[in-house]
Amino acid sequence: MTNIEDLIATANRYDRQELIQGWNQDILKNSKIIIIGSDILANYVALNASCLGFGEVEIYGTGKIKDSIQNFKRTVSKENSDYSEGFLYYNFPENESKVKGIENITSMMNQEISIKGINLDMSYGFNWSVIKRPTVIIDATNNPISKYKALSYAKTNNIPFVSVSSNSKIGKIGLKVPQDEKDENYENNLLFHDLENKQGEMTSMIMSALAVDEARKSLMLLPGEQKLDDIVVYNKQSNQKFDLAEDLEIKDEKVLRNKHILQIGAGSEGNFTALGFVIRDVGKLTLIDDDVAELINLNRQPFLYDGVDQPKVQAAIDKFKRINPRIEYEPIQKRVGLDFESYFENNKPDLIVDTVDNNKTRALLNYFSLKYDIPFISGGTRYNSGQAVVSIPGKTACLNCKVDIDKMALDSYTPQSCILAAQPSVITSNQIIAGLMVEEAERIVAPEIYGNPTNKIIKYISGESLRLGLLPTIERCDCNKNGYVNTWVDKMKHLYGG
Ligand SMILES: [Zn+2]
Repeated sequence: MTNIEDLIATANRYDRQELIQGWNQDILKNSKIIIIGSDILANYVALNASCLGFGEVEIYGTGKIKDSIQNFKRTVSKENSDYSEGFLYYNFPENESKVKGIENITSMMNQEISIKGINLDMSYGFNWSVIKRPTVIIDATNNPISKYKALSYAKTNNIPFVSVSSNSKIGKIGLKVPQDEKDENYENNLLFHDLENKQGEMTSMIMSALAVDEARKSLMLLPGEQKLDDIVVYNKQSNQKFDLAEDLEIKDEKVLRNKHILQIGAGSEGNFTALGFVIRDVGKLTLIDDDVAELINLNRQPFLYDGVDQPKVQAAIDKFKRINPRIEYEPIQKRVGLDFESYFENNKPDLIVDTVDNNKTRALLNYFSLKYDIPFISGGTRYNSGQAVVSIPGKTACLNCKVDIDKMALDSYTPQSCILAAQPSVITSNQIIAGLMVEEAERIVAPEIYGNPTNKIIKYISGESLRLGLLPTIERCDCNKNGYVNTWVDKMKHLYGG
């Protein structure tokens, strides 16, 4: 019979993704992925591919770590930070090669694979003739010439090719696999001629995870999945988000600088929402989680590296402080229960962000949101899907009215230890949903700049042809004043040991 000690003794960093039906880690382990680029998209792509466990990761790009990336940290400047060239350079001084900086940090995130940053300009065609054949290529530049050269090499050598680009408003990915029926027009569209400006900080977080997942699918397709057949778009200017409409005129402004975000959960989704808030210059970030980092977390919680056996909140914040030291960080190692109410009696955060993995805590956070009149973003993922839901008391329906969270909490209530309740989990869905949550956070605090947050449920489904979409839901409720709040504790308190 299996007991907990046996499970712990045999745990490895890929355990959670190897629980996925059809997953074969050896396929990835025996693959070599080439990433072209050295800006923020390449940072995210390299991070994601390293966590997934591609056996060899090579990052090709040029450019030096700029003074400005390191400089702003040392000054309490009023200027906004700019991470469009990346965020994985915190161990390196300025003027070092960017791809070496990426190699340095991602190699610590996964020490079981080979990662190399190579300072070479792959938009120069000759350089393709000197590299060793990869298994799959991702071009993460905004450079159509680079993409054209990479695509040509991929076609000649029968290698799957993923193209990803972004600016601050829009991100796009597309796939070309050997022997598909795509015509020249489709191939030309993969060069993304319209995305030649600097890369977007949050569009890149979302699109890079999709890009690596398409690379993974091109090598290892799971039951129910199909390879990408068309270009996928995430577009901040569109009310529908995932098409090319230009409903909104938006600017790229860091609107979280004077805001306090209370984030509950420093796990898979939480690593990425927190990174997003760090990159977007949040004023204060309170990070709450009672867990301690374990080896089996590291395939999807990249910032816990070298923090195994430490509290997750501390391991994560240690890294975030180095990426952006100007933020006020408040780590709290604690499980959020009914007694957490005292926090809201003494603090008024601007936003509650839920990245927990259980409906019991989600239901409780919805109650706190309604009672203390604080906007709330809730995110949840499975290995092949995820969703994000925004609730603003008095303006939108609450999480309970949108997804019946109280009933789900009551139905699912069985006390279980974490390792026995092991669920399959992978980095992709967490990174995508987290990126979309941070985007909604900026809309909640600055609708005049980014447009209103969506009142629909944001969905990611790996097996759907378009991958991303919005689901309609109930739009309004008055749970904040109809007595729901007053009776909630009596109805639910047995779940929280109250
Ligand atoms: Zn409601």
